[in-house]
Amino acid sequence: MIRHTRVALICLLAFDPLVSGQTPADSERAQAAQTYSTERLALWQQRLKLTDWHITISQVRRADLKPKTMGGISWDKPRKSATIWVLSASDYQLPYRAMLDDMELTIVHELVHLELASLPRKEASRSVEEHAVNGIADALLALDRKQP
Ligand SMILES: [Zn+2]
Repeated sequence: MIRHTRVALICLLAFDPLVSGQTPADSERAQAAQTYSTERLALWQQRLKLTDWHITISQVRRADLKPKTMGGISWDKPRKSATIWVLSASDYQLPYRAMLDDMELTIVHELVHLELASLPRKEASRSVEEHAVNGIADALLALDRKQP
C-alpha cells in the first residue's frame, strides 16, 4: 500500500511539451504536476486494465504521509473507487523532470497494489508484497522509458 522512499530515476529526455526545458514557478509546477499525473494515470489504468475504476490523484504534504513513504492508496472495492496520494510538488526536492518521473513511479506502484487488491491480505505478507510491487513497477517503467 505504501511506496517507500527510493532514488529517483533521472534517465529520461524531456519529450513532453509540458516539461520541455524550463522550470516553472511553484504554483505552475504543482498544477503541471497534477495535469501530468492525471494523464499518466489514465494511460496506466488502460495498460493495467483498471479503467472500470474511478481513481483520483491527490497531492499531499510530506507530513500527511507515513514516514519514509512517497505515496499511498486507499480503495473501496465495492464502489471501484480509489485515491492515490502522491507527495506534493512543493515538497519534492528533485529537479522538475525527475519529480514527474518519480510521481509516475508512485502512480504505477499504487496501481499494482490495486491489481493485487483481490488477493488475500495479511499483515505478515505486507513486506513481501511491497518487494514484489517495487519490482513490477520498476520493470514496467523501465520498459516504458526504454530509449528506441
Ligand atoms: Zn507499496
